[in-house]
Amino acid sequence: MRLAERLQQIKPSATLAVAARAAELKAAGEDVIGLGTGEPDFPTPETACEAAIAAMQNGQTKYTAVDGTAELKQAIIEKLKRDNALLYSPGEIIVSTGAKQALFNMLLALINPGDEVLVPTPSWVSYPDMVRLVGGIPIELHADDRQNFKVTPEQLEQAITPKTRLLMLNSPSNPTGMAYSKAEYQAIGELLARHPQIGISSDEIYEHIYWGKEPFISFASACPELRDRTMIINGVSKAYAMTGWRIGFMAGPEALVTAMRKIQSQSTSNPSSISQAAAAAALNGNQDSVFEMRDEFKRRHDWLIDALNRIPGVSCKPCDGAFYAFPSFAEAIIAIPGVDNDLDMAEWLLEHAGIAVVPGNPFGAPGHLRLSYAASMEVLQAAVSRIHNALQQALADA
Ligand code: PMP
Ligand code: GLU
Repeated sequence: MRLAERLQQIKPSATLAVAARAAELKAAGEDVIGLGTGEPDFPTPETACEAAIAAMQNGQTKYTAVDGTAELKQAIIEKLKRDNALLYSPGEIIVSTGAKQALFNMLLALINPGDEVLVPTPSWVSYPDMVRLVGGIPIELHADDRQNFKVTPEQLEQAITPKTRLLMLNSPSNPTGMAYSKAEYQAIGELLARHPQIGISSDEIYEHIYWGKEPFISFASACPELRDRTMIINGVSKAYAMTGWRIGFMAGPEALVTAMRKIQSQSTSNPSSISQAAAAAALNGNQDSVFEMRDEFKRRHDWLIDALNRIPGVSCKPCDGAFYAFPSFAEAIIAIPGVDNDLDMAEWLLEHAGIAVVPGNPFGAPGHLRLSYAASMEVLQAAVSRIHNALQQALADA
């Protein structure tokens, strides 16, 4: 079978690969704890499930408008008003099969072959490969833990060329858990105001899993003068524990929404009608479950960061949100014979501690590992104690 050349430029998603490998090992009877998965370990709110059942029973089982039902678009408009003080009209919103599809179709609609896309790293594994798939060139800008993994306007300025078309932001971040403040966004906005050819994709999918010092801020609220070239990406996967329902959206320029609707009309058509009904109910319903989930993630975060920093060879910064810890294992990597990088380190932990984590390399951050704490406290405690014991032993032997 001869495959298209574009396939040679991309790899399978590392996050999904680790989750699949942990599940496989467990199914084969191995004692493995998976901290790879990036999805909340909570149930979908009852109101969403009930709305889905009602949708099935009352015949909402047919094609919907390609870009989403009027009901769901209205719920998204209300959400943007309520949470972000932003006003959008239905023509500026497209509902897709997960935020992932919204991002992909946005890139497909915006990027010509050879166009450059600024991707601050560490970034979610899918950004650079999505850019490559549509023929663009991801320009990775590295921000290390000394700058809290956040890119500066100076770094951006140096990387901008006449071919730069888009900047991909994600706050709170997967994998680092860091969030940009209003002032940081405004400094970036000031720079971008001088470069009108650059759009801004602001992935806000972890908006509600957030406990930073300042209230969460959407890029479009921080930089209202850039609203018309900002693409807000969000969805129900994380806030409402609805990863399997596959509903995400983009709010952005009407011309781009029209282009993405054309792409969806020739590829997937509408996202699932039943999932759309459930997503509307989740967005319109009581938001208590969102806050309860956030509080539980914060509790785990506080415990986990402290516990990780007690492990020899490991150091970890506290996060503003999301549900990932992103510790540096640099010292452990240097100390353990046969372990030369984070990919080896992840393999070593699987073999010696039975823990599955995602290496930092696919996120553009060698030396780090990503641990998802979308797992119960009991599971986290067991996992950390295994990592602690294995590393203590290895470092004593080294
Ligand atoms: N953006 C980021 C940063 C993510 O971590 C994820 C997680 N899957 C997504 C987008 C996509 O979310 P979904 O397609 O489930 O809506
Ligand atoms: N975003 C999650 C993660 O990073 C889900 C998996 C994926 O779509 O990459 O683990």
